[in-house]
Amino acid sequence: MAIRKLLVANRGEIAVRIIRAAQSLGIRTVQAHSEADADMLAVRMADEAVCVGPAPAAQSYLSVPAILAAAEDTGADAIHPGYGFLSENAGFARAVAEAGLAFVGPAADTIERMGDKARARETAIAAGVPVVPGSAGRVEDAATALAAAQEVGFPVLLKAAAGGGGRGIRIAHDADELAQLAPQARSEAQAAFGDGGLYVEKLILNPRHIEVQVLGDGTQAVHCYERECSLQRRRQKVWEEAGAFGLDAQTREALCKSAADLARSVGYSGAGTVEYLYDDASGAFYFIEMNTRIQVEHPVTEMVTGIDLVAEMIRIAGGEALSLTQDQIAVNGHAIEVRVNAEDPLRQFMPFPGKLTSMRLPEGEGVRFDHFLYEGYQIPPFYDSLLGKLIVHAPSRGAAIDKMASALEALELGGLRTTIPLHKALAAEADLRAGRVHTQWLEPWLEAGNLTAATEEA
Ligand code: ADP
Repeated sequence: MAIRKLLVANRGEIAVRIIRAAQSLGIRTVQAHSEADADMLAVRMADEAVCVGPAPAAQSYLSVPAILAAAEDTGADAIHPGYGFLSENAGFARAVAEAGLAFVGPAADTIERMGDKARARETAIAAGVPVVPGSAGRVEDAATALAAAQEVGFPVLLKAAAGGGGRGIRIAHDADELAQLAPQARSEAQAAFGDGGLYVEKLILNPRHIEVQVLGDGTQAVHCYERECSLQRRRQKVWEEAGAFGLDAQTREALCKSAADLARSVGYSGAGTVEYLYDDASGAFYFIEMNTRIQVEHPVTEMVTGIDLVAEMIRIAGGEALSLTQDQIAVNGHAIEVRVNAEDPLRQFMPFPGKLTSMRLPEGEGVRFDHFLYEGYQIPPFYDSLLGKLIVHAPSRGAAIDKMASALEALELGGLRTTIPLHKALAAEADLRAGRVHTQWLEPWLEAGNLTAATEEA
């Protein structure tokens, strides 16, 4: 069923991004918004807008009945959930399909299967994808957890099967700590995710985070190469690149192929990301999870492959086959994205919602700023703090870092405290330039006062 009218069930920069993609395909758009978002940029851009409830997300962007009613009232024939909110909610995907609408994403069963991280591990193993050594599936009691931990060796991570967003992960260094943490982790996971299920993974020392973009149409699946997202704070990505630095061709090929194999093995439909940890010391990579949605950092892949991933996922949801075969997908140059958040990096990343008094954006070839801002816009305090993503593309990684540094100089968001000073300092950092970073690099760097020192010098 070709999509004619798409309801955007999200906000912020991704809503703007989805509307642009829909417009490029000649599809009409309806922007769903909360009462607090009536003046956001996507509302102004869409053909129609519909209020779905009050400011708290639970009563608007997360309300399945409100979103479905909005689609029905406006005659939309498809819903794009963006990322976060309802994007990985299998019940929502099922309800959308049952209402006779197209869900821009994989089938509800696929979301369910991959959303349970313990089950996703089993699916990965069955597809021949290496996983982090750990428990075979869920650990239902302390004895099973201990047996799994002893088999792979301490330290281990206790992870919530339903976890996400870097939450619900705990480290146990020995049997005593495991025995102490397991019941606590279980009740916390139950409270946070409505599912107390846990599984055990070996703690990989200073791994890098490398992930592979995939696209599938239910029958065929391809990969669009990899991204490096090793710069993290509190297990949240801060700075992202395409591709990963210093991977040899053979490892890259095996890694990317394993992601496409996994997607194909579940009849994946839409855009997805298969996430891995990469151990620099051994050159081994291990599956950690699959995200069944578009990701924040998708633009770096778009820059190096030239593929419009959001348009592609909308076309697939409209029943079309993949428009590309694997051998038509190639990487050109290097791309970097930084997340510009309304947070003060010099004050423990305290949120700083405020009014944008002036705005100056970088321009030029290979520079992109995905955002939802305009002068005079009041950032609502109810949602996450992402203001936009600055993305650059250059022939080499070194040139991309240089380009990022100058684009950051040109970017001015008046009236707000943002993470721009952090990114400026990172762009000047020798370890980063040399690729000597991993997922445990940024936090100690911050704790050692490097950011304060860099901003005082500037
Ligand atoms: P979430 O679903 O909450 O994002 P992930 O399983 O994707 O959790 O892990 C998030 C991050 O936590 C990873 O990018 C990595 O930095 C760290 N991490 C996860 N598993 C391990 C592990 N086994 N060893 C070391 N670090 C890990």
